[in-house]
Amino acid sequence: MRTPAASSSSSSSNAGLASPARAYDVLVIGSGIAGLSFALKVAREGRSVAILTKKTKADSNTNWAQGGIAVVTAETDDFAKHVADTLTAGDGLCDRKVVKQIITDGPERVRELIELGLKFSRAEDGHYDLGREGGHSERRILHVKDMTGKAIEDALIKAIGREPRVALFEHFFAIDIITTGRIAGRRSKRAASTGPDRAAGVYALDVRDGRVATFRAPVVMLSSGGAGQVYLYTTNPDIATGDGIAMAYRAGVEVRNMEFIQFHPTALYSISGKRFLVSEAVRGEGAILRNCDGDAFMPRYHKLADLAPRDIVARAIDAEMKRTGAPHVWLDITHRNAAFLRSRFPAIYKFCKAEGIDIANDMIPVVPAAHYTCGGVATTLAAETTLPGLYACGEVACTGLHGANRLASNSLLEAVVMAHRGAASVDAYLKRIQKTDAKTPVIPEWRDLGGGDLDERVVISHNWDELRRTMWDYVSIQRTTKRLERARTRIATLARETQEYYWNFAVDARLLELRNLIQVAELVVACALQRKESRGLHSIADHPKKLARAVDTSVRRAG
Ligand SMILES: Cc1cc2nc3c(=O)[nH]c(=O)nc-3n(C[C@H](O)[C@H](O)[C@H](O)COP(=O)(O)OP(=O)(O)OC[C@H]3O[C@@H](n4cnc5c(N)ncnc54)[C@H](O)[C@@H]3O)c2cc1C
Repeated sequence: MRTPAASSSSSSSNAGLASPARAYDVLVIGSGIAGLSFALKVAREGRSVAILTKKTKADSNTNWAQGGIAVVTAETDDFAKHVADTLTAGDGLCDRKVVKQIITDGPERVRELIELGLKFSRAEDGHYDLGREGGHSERRILHVKDMTGKAIEDALIKAIGREPRVALFEHFFAIDIITTGRIAGRRSKRAASTGPDRAAGVYALDVRDGRVATFRAPVVMLSSGGAGQVYLYTTNPDIATGDGIAMAYRAGVEVRNMEFIQFHPTALYSISGKRFLVSEAVRGEGAILRNCDGDAFMPRYHKLADLAPRDIVARAIDAEMKRTGAPHVWLDITHRNAAFLRSRFPAIYKFCKAEGIDIANDMIPVVPAAHYTCGGVATTLAAETTLPGLYACGEVACTGLHGANRLASNSLLEAVVMAHRGAASVDAYLKRIQKTDAKTPVIPEWRDLGGGDLDERVVISHNWDELRRTMWDYVSIQRTTKRLERARTRIATLARETQEYYWNFAVDARLLELRNLIQVAELVVACALQRKESRGLHSIADHPKKLARAVDTSVRRAG
């Protein structure tokens, strides 16, 4: 954070371009399922809430979720089975207590979504049309056709719109978390009166006018989603640049298990480089993966064949592509008729059709792409991070639910459950903090030391590309220590160069995202190098075995 120490001799053209501070009880970073659900709950407790979101309110991973939300509703299903499936996918690293809690909380949270107006798809007999996805022993995925995320996002945005205590700021990019310790100066006399370090707000760039605003609040909820954009190929939309993880790390907060990046096995292979997701639910309805020779190869890799856990399917596809030299494999659902496919998968059907693929007659070319960030900001079951007043929920967080690999459709579940649990614990924190003597020091306005607009913008776009390609080539599905070390060296050079720009030029969203992506890349590599075994999503050739004891990797910035 460069503001508090800004010297009075600053010659910045941005100096003075700070907006007046705004004060709330609670700040929420992000408007996906996690942030909106949380905001709704705390506002209903009577708290004033500001939601900051860096693009428009619906720009989120949530809006793209297709398959649905995993939750126990069927009579044939039970919590123990869902817990067992989650633990199996997590490959020994899940926190059993967290898994049990999140899964048992699920039905109640889903009922609340239904109360908001969400209409999950039903079969002809009137029961929910439960989908099946890889790693699940039962059909338990509630969905709204293949547009579940959009339906959830729409319902939550409508509910937030009716809530007078919530102010939603679109195009406000959170830059860094303000902590009492940082602004007081840890060793100063003032620091003694402010008590232990805690969150006090955020600096955020108003993307449309270039000013940096100060938002004050004793509680900051990070719900800024994952970091898929750190890889060249990803199913994630552009917003997924790991900003919350990078911000938390810079604030000295513990980040965990960043090596576990889930690659979705079946993203549409398109020349444009964009990777549209072809949901696992398509395999749940019988689609078969074939290599370029037409062989159905999955039975050679796992007993569940095409419904094996995602990491196994992604590695199998990667291996088949490397073995045959083909740029993709095929997904074959041509045995289902067009009417069924149009009705069950309208978005996929339409997207493929626009790409010239009629999925009822043609096989779909697919490749793996970075999809989900299993690690993140370490939290308790109350969504607390290691910094008092800073909370995290949704994909940005690492609760212990996913362990070494996320079970399909468990992430929407985790987000909505943890938003609820976070809201409950925030209330107690706010009451506690109001009673203490600890003062919040005056927060200085943002001062930019930069010397003007960036004229060499090509450096930013070049570094974006280089970073993402480095991660794709050296830190993706199959790893080696040598490749990870090579990546670390390259990322360090990009970090130095980008940091220099950050200090010397006026900030903009693209530069801030690059800075965060580089930070996230460093964390992924650091965690991957810590783990001297292959477990779950982390497969490393020089440590092919799993160690007897499963331990989280952890990184935290010193002092
Ligand atoms: C294509 C696709 C399909 C998926 N399908 C499923 C599925 O079927 N089932 C399932 O369980 N999961 C699925 N997932 C995963 C799931 O969608 C996400 O894990 C979940 O939606 C994350 O929700 P969230 O609220 O944590 O983050 P998001 O929904 O990603 O929201 C993050 C928000 O934070 C904002 N933000 C980020 N940085 C900043 C910043 N610096 N300042 C201000 N705002 C910021 C973003 O703009 C956004 O509003 C899918 C993901 C993708 C990409």
